[in-house]
Amino acid sequence: MDAIALKHNDEIIDLQTAAVLGIEGEPIELDNSSDSLEVLRHSTAHLMAQAIKSLYTNAKFFVGPVVKEGFYYDFKVDEEIGEADLKKIEKQMINFAKKKFEIERYEISMEEAKLKFGNDELKLDVLKRIADSKVSIYKQGEFEDLCRGPHLPNVRNIRFFKLTKIAGAYRGGDSKNEMLTRVYGIAFADKESLKAHMTMLEEAAKRDHRKIGAQMKLFTFAEEVGAGFPIWLPAGGRLRARLENLLFKAHRKRGYEPVRGPEMLKSELWKTSGHYQNYGENMYFSTIDDVEFGIKPMNCVGHIKVYEDELHSYRDLPIKYFEYGVVHRHEFTGALHGLFRVREFTQDDAHIFCTMDQIEEQIIEVVDFVDKIMSTFEFDYKMMISTKPEKAVGSDEIWDVSTQALKNAMDKNSLSYEMDEGGGAFYGPKIDIKITDAIGREWQCGTIQLDFNLPERFKLEYNGENNDKIQPVMIHRAILGSFERFIGILTEHYAGEFPMFIAPTQVAIIPIADTHKEYAKLLSDKLIDIGADSSIYDKNDSLNKRIRTAEKSRVPMLIIIGDEEVNGKTVAVRDRREREQYNLSEDEFLKLIQTKINEVNF
Ligand SMILES: [Zn+2]
Ligand SMILES: [Zn+2]
Repeated sequence: MDAIALKHNDEIIDLQTAAVLGIEGEPIELDNSSDSLEVLRHSTAHLMAQAIKSLYTNAKFFVGPVVKEGFYYDFKVDEEIGEADLKKIEKQMINFAKKKFEIERYEISMEEAKLKFGNDELKLDVLKRIADSKVSIYKQGEFEDLCRGPHLPNVRNIRFFKLTKIAGAYRGGDSKNEMLTRVYGIAFADKESLKAHMTMLEEAAKRDHRKIGAQMKLFTFAEEVGAGFPIWLPAGGRLRARLENLLFKAHRKRGYEPVRGPEMLKSELWKTSGHYQNYGENMYFSTIDDVEFGIKPMNCVGHIKVYEDELHSYRDLPIKYFEYGVVHRHEFTGALHGLFRVREFTQDDAHIFCTMDQIEEQIIEVVDFVDKIMSTFEFDYKMMISTKPEKAVGSDEIWDVSTQALKNAMDKNSLSYEMDEGGGAFYGPKIDIKITDAIGREWQCGTIQLDFNLPERFKLEYNGENNDKIQPVMIHRAILGSFERFIGILTEHYAGEFPMFIAPTQVAIIPIADTHKEYAKLLSDKLIDIGADSSIYDKNDSLNKRIRTAEKSRVPMLIIIGDEEVNGKTVAVRDRREREQYNLSEDEFLKLIQTKINEVNF
């Protein structure tokens, strides 16, 4: 197969550019590799722009990047444009692809570009954001677009694509700017991959946690409360408490101590930690008695204060603190998305203070903890090591040492990982845990971050063997990431059919008549005693309607109570998961439920 681009010094160069500059490199063929898809999807975005321009001649275009979910283009048209128009645009794209336009590239100076796009305020805005003195233009047929590339040599390679979504987006992601139209799309090298992707999207829509969350009454949001601030409803509260309790025990078994820092700390302290300078734009501030306070975006500083409360000896290390820490972070309104992206959330956060020598075993212990949890929830996962970002505190030397320490821990234990250059936290390198859900989507959850900087900035110390003062190393780690996001992911992963051990309600109890209510209540109390939750469906509806309601609520098990059950102290069980019906004595039933909820231990 012919190359569609080249890989040169880790950079994708299109054939047009390579020819001009005389660059040689590894050929990239049209397949579903990430390099190939990058070129294909970016070119598909241009083809879409070409189609839009031909249908709406007044259309003006902003930017059209490749993103995780495929590609998009932000643009402006005078007409109302909606979901129904996507088909029309797709059709026009197919027409243009069949015309087999060559995709040509040429360069002009910044001044020429400003003249050329003088009537186009969106392109002028794009030009403002470019620092180079020269810019490149890509041309296919009559259509031209300002772009850095890389692009396919010809539009005929664009065959398997779909426009997936239309939405509004502020120009440049800034809510002070006008709202543009954004159309998302996806493209693949072959028909099968496109089909599989579209099936996955359909399945994802069915599993949308916002929809299931509302049906199961797990959580809600309210305009008058504020966007991005979730409200947990009773069923969600029960599910969350189950998860919290399981994790609490798991932390205690591994030697973590529960602690709690305050929600607001003086800004002075955030300056010491570096959050003020490096993370301030994501923080919320308030003033008390003329002193500025920052609402915590992370729990680290609180835990440092706990550490400082006592003098520590090398014999005490490692010291592990954990907290279900409520944090606030500013997110753009447009980025908010159900429980996935919120402004207030609770991390399953912990900090380990240890010696240099203990880093490796501590990292491995955390990785093992992650494995236990993720495999219990039937997630596949992979790990990435992220290195120094642009905005960072600490010397290069400290960064090198800590990045190497993470790699060593992984290498020595033959754990595989990928590298994410520049993706670290501002205070240290990290291991990110990416999980894959039941329908093949990847999610970033927990992180393990190694930190030599905060101990330095806060002058933390412990007494060494010779009574000398030594600085401890700090490991920040969260495994779920946040309860909000993780429960959102779990909801979609299980499509709301949560396993017994975290289901908001384990058993739905349905008394046939009023005379059976007393026994229903007795059973409900006994279930609470063994650590299970139940709901009694005793509303004034017909029995069949109540059974249907209980079944729809996704409760794993239903029991029906009538005369026979009351007299014989038995229950008629409908196991929704196993699709079985059977009768058990009360004792057998309680034992069964107890076994099912206790079979999980992190
Ligand atoms: Zn482009
Ligand atoms: Zn931290």
